Amino acid sequence: MKTDSFHPPLRTLMGPGPSDVHPRILEAMSRPTIGHLDPAFVEMMEEVKGLLQYAFQTDNPLTMPVSAPGSAGMETCFVNLVEPGEKVIVCQNGVFGGRMKENVERCGATPVMVLDEWGKAVDPAKLEQALEEHPDASVVAFVHAETSTGAQSDAETLTELAHRHGCLVIVDAVTSLGGSEIQVDGWDIDAIYSGTQKCLSCTPGLSPISFNERALEKVRQRKTKVQSWFLDLNLVMGYWGGNAKRSYHHTAPVNALYGLHEALVMLKEEGLENAWKRHYDNHRKLRAGLERLGLRFIVPEDQRLPQLNAVTIPDGVDDAEVRARLLDEYHLEIGAGLGDLAGKVWRIGLMGHSSNPGNIALCLAALEDVLNS
Ligand SMILES: *Cc1c(COP(=O)(O)O)cnc(C)c1O
Repeated sequence: MKTDSFHPPLRTLMGPGPSDVHPRILEAMSRPTIGHLDPAFVEMMEEVKGLLQYAFQTDNPLTMPVSAPGSAGMETCFVNLVEPGEKVIVCQNGVFGGRMKENVERCGATPVMVLDEWGKAVDPAKLEQALEEHPDASVVAFVHAETSTGAQSDAETLTELAHRHGCLVIVDAVTSLGGSEIQVDGWDIDAIYSGTQKCLSCTPGLSPISFNERALEKVRQRKTKVQSWFLDLNLVMGYWGGNAKRSYHHTAPVNALYGLHEALVMLKEEGLENAWKRHYDNHRKLRAGLERLGLRFIVPEDQRLPQLNAVTIPDGVDDAEVRARLLDEYHLEIGAGLGDLAGKVWRIGLMGHSSNPGNIALCLAALEDVLNS
């Protein structure tokens, strides 16, 4: 039996996540584990909540990380806000909208799909039409930043349309939080979830969420119990809630939360607007280089997500071989196409700490070398 410790190779992560984790975050995670009800830990939890409110731009008291990856944040929103028999409008323009549909069905509700082409933003006119055709719908769900295609949708407009028709919104901001503008309060978003391993540059495994009062009221008014015990916010809040008395719900991932705390402190130090601008400026740099190599973006310019650059693989180029050589020779990871786009595109991430000029130079030089040989 092999008993050696595991030492991962050093990589540069320019795929769809995880992104490069800053050494400060890794160092924070290696600090001594303390009890998850220790007063010192509880104080840190309060700081994490406050820093997440800053990242989401909200005063929502229910703003906290779910102890599981982004998919669990998605599930938290659906299982708490959707009851059996309800109708939910799901906008789909890539892989993750498809998962929202799965969630709706598993809640015993009926999804109404608003489909857009992969690589395009969600079309508000189509949502409006669906809202008019389905006045009995109670929730609208959409993905702000579709990581499978690199398209960014207009969350403010989609939210406003949903509210005009009396629907709550659930927003997937897994790839946008910390990388693109999000104004949870300013745009009046009801429920939103994210992930730690994309533009926050933390390790995978946590999912920040935020619910406003309207969404919480719906949770309180439920006729049926939330079918997931672990994700039932009524119970989770007994641990994460603001009251002095905290009760055991599950053992928080203590060291992972040290990491998230550090990632959020770094975001605060940089300033949210500066982080958004950095992601955009680096996208422009990478774009210029990719276009010089003759690679074409699949998303129209005004709908592009700065932190995820999807380009068409040139004819006659072997997708898997190029990615394998980038990994072997340059220790560089870029993303393959997902779903309908598998084998057709590369997805180059510029998320969080990975979004820097050194990575852009490495990626362009490595791609040029591999494509030319
Ligand atoms: C990565 C991602 C998820 C899922 O997050 P996990 O942490 O992998 O569970 C959900 N939605 C979008 C848009 C994503 O990019």
